[in-house]
Amino acid sequence: MMKTSTFFLLLLLCCGLATPATAQTFPVDTLVKTGPLTQRINLVFVPEGYQTAEMPLFIARVHQTLNSLFTQSPFLEYQSYFNVFAIKVSSTQSGSTHPRTTTECGVTPAFAATTYFNSTFDYGSIHRLLVVQQTSAMGAVLAHNFPRYDQVFVLVNSTEYGGSGGQFATASANANATEIMVHEIGHSFAGLSDEYWAGPQYARESPNMTQTTNPTAVRWAPWMGTSNVGIYPHINNPTWQKPHQNCKMQVLGAPFCAVCKETIVERIHTLARPMQGYSPAALNINNPTQDLPFALTLLPPSPNTLRVTWTLDGTIFARNHTSTTVPLAQLPLGSHVVRAEVVDTTALTRSTSHLTQHAYTVNWTISRKATSVSMASATAQYNVETYPNPVGDVLNLNYVLPRAAPVALTVLDAAGRTVKTIRYPRQAAGRYEYQLEAAQLGLRSAGTYTLIVNVDGVLMKRQLVRE
Ligand SMILES: [Zn+2]
Ligand SMILES: [Zn+2]
Repeated sequence: MMKTSTFFLLLLLCCGLATPATAQTFPVDTLVKTGPLTQRINLVFVPEGYQTAEMPLFIARVHQTLNSLFTQSPFLEYQSYFNVFAIKVSSTQSGSTHPRTTTECGVTPAFAATTYFNSTFDYGSIHRLLVVQQTSAMGAVLAHNFPRYDQVFVLVNSTEYGGSGGQFATASANANATEIMVHEIGHSFAGLSDEYWAGPQYARESPNMTQTTNPTAVRWAPWMGTSNVGIYPHINNPTWQKPHQNCKMQVLGAPFCAVCKETIVERIHTLARPMQGYSPAALNINNPTQDLPFALTLLPPSPNTLRVTWTLDGTIFARNHTSTTVPLAQLPLGSHVVRAEVVDTTALTRSTSHLTQHAYTVNWTISRKATSVSMASATAQYNVETYPNPVGDVLNLNYVLPRAAPVALTVLDAAGRTVKTIRYPRQAAGRYEYQLEAAQLGLRSAGTYTLIVNVDGVLMKRQLVRE
């Protein structure tokens, strides 16, 4: 059953992780394994207020949460990026403490439970704010049982409505529990704000909350006018704006809005790479007469939005294959570079946004001699950011060079004519940040332009708007 009333749960920003106090071993169940821990986002579920005999109930509730999470965009598309585990921590007693210290407690009786993480309702004088208080115990459990976690979820064994975000997304086992948990994941995993008014203490600039009211300068400007994205004032405090009126960060049962989906996809990309591996790594061949196979191991979303481009000495020779061959015998003597470039073209993020565009490459450097071929390889990741868009007087350009390489900027007008080319000489590896004046980039009149950033031969295109 979907509930569509305004969703009142508060984001909890505090709860730092204290030093582990104890080290106790618990059974760890593998619930979903899509790949190695080092190459996936590892979700860890922890029970709170479940006794040993109640572990099957806890595991059943985890599966309910997963069934909901992975049928909702963008977790649906990126399901293959996640592993899921459960650390079966048992508590002395069932349930969660309810001190009845707020004016909102209604008929819910007071209750004191001896539980492993000492969770409680009524946190901060808000009845539904359900919080794990023993964060040091949580730190110890994670460090000792599953240190390689990316996101922790605490399922509290109470049917009373409640939850919290913060470092450990927490939810009770209320009828709305799975939706509450997915909402809290928005907070904890992607740093999203509530899109209902949660109170002045939670008002901040965030991916889906701002005080900017200019539609061309707002953080979600690339989405304006699509999918009902706009600039909507919070009714309780109209100086703060939100991007949507029916987003899961406000309404249980609603999907995440486009802005929140983009934020989650960007977070996924920072934790797991679409390029998982490649071959060959290196080789020496004494009689270079055969074709040499090259292959990538990719982690495709569903549908597969990864695009692969293969080049030989800068010329494209194959697209959208995960493997290809190079006829070694036909290579001229000398040094050559085979490159595979992988970009996720998902429509869930907009390339014109300020968010980072990720490109992943493998470079194979081939040395062809008359009687032998030797080859070395290396991977690189280029994170190119340009903002704001539309461009003001200044365009910020940031990128990471994983190795020494040249960089060039080309600006095309709407007709495809080159209006500006800027070349940086061979630059050392490192992060570069530029503030470029619009006039310096040739953006002299209002219109749409294309910026092509050529970083080490990797081309990244942006549509720029100049008003
Ligand atoms: Zn209460
Ligand atoms: Zn949203």
